[in-house]
Amino acid sequence: MIGFEDFRRQGEEIGKIQNQISEGRLVHAILITGESGTGKKTLATLIASALMCRAEGGVPCGTCSGCRMSASGEHPDITVVRKGVPLSSETAKGRTSIPVDDIREVIRLCSRHPYEGGNRAVVILDAENLTVQAQNSLLKILEEPPPDTYFLLTSAHPEQLLITVRSRCRQVKLIPWDISYIRNILEAAGTDPEKSLKAAYVSDGSIGKALRLVSDDLYWQTREEVINDFFRNRQRSDILKISSGLKDKKSESDVLFDILEDCVHKLLLYRIEPGGNHDISEFPAEWKQFARNAPLSSFTGLTDSVRDARRQNAFNVNYQAIIEQLLLTFTGEKDKWLQ
Ligand SMILES: [Zn+2]
Repeated sequence: MIGFEDFRRQGEEIGKIQNQISEGRLVHAILITGESGTGKKTLATLIASALMCRAEGGVPCGTCSGCRMSASGEHPDITVVRKGVPLSSETAKGRTSIPVDDIREVIRLCSRHPYEGGNRAVVILDAENLTVQAQNSLLKILEEPPPDTYFLLTSAHPEQLLITVRSRCRQVKLIPWDISYIRNILEAAGTDPEKSLKAAYVSDGSIGKALRLVSDDLYWQTREEVINDFFRNRQRSDILKISSGLKDKKSESDVLFDILEDCVHKLLLYRIEPGGNHDISEFPAEWKQFARNAPLSSFTGLTDSVRDARRQNAFNVNYQAIIEQLLLTFTGEKDKWLQ
């Protein structure tokens, strides 16, 4: 279980928040931003639990009745708002936005005393899903928050929120986690060390993604195939054979494009910082040579070619032709820098 101590690795801000909760002087609205998998929901839940803790200082204590109810997800004074899970009986199930009716329900709940007599927390997950009407309604309560009521919003796309809503919140931005930390988390969760390291390397700093990938056998199998097909001793004469082998795997095209982009990104990081902590051992010698010699424009060119392939694929261009073009681009670019 990830706790405040872990989030302190993200910078001083988190420690300050924890102290302010203990001292009862936390701001009434926090907007937690950051890319997918950086722990926005986990942090919002932690803050909400800490607000419910009955202990003095060093919250959450983990043992009081408030902490126990929070941990079970059943604290009556924590309200979670998210799209598709209606809070108001007026809201249809499965909606792709958070409608104003849900926020009206939040306002109604906030007009009552908290059940436990302490704080109340309203967690709004992926707040960019709030409709404009819902945001305007939320704004009113953010401007005049009821006592002891805290709003915790999360969003990977804060730019989609009204500026007026954003400006009412203290923003906390989570950054991608470092590889060694993710590796430790995976190992602590029982994943073997080799797989933990591999997953940490391809996770883009997302604990969520790393956890998902360790148990995704199809991903590792596809990754092995993609590296084999695109990077291992490939000559132009192999291209037709490979593309014809892949032509019936259009259903896996998104995974293939993701893996290719990730591979280019890994080689690029190595190019920018050769002595850094970048593992490119899965690539054969000639691609390591490419990573040492090629100019940055080569890497951009490869990334662009994958983006073009994605677009063509969306327009139903023949999949085998798309793969052929990609193989030509990758092989051609590598051959240029083999000196
Ligand atoms: Zn407690």
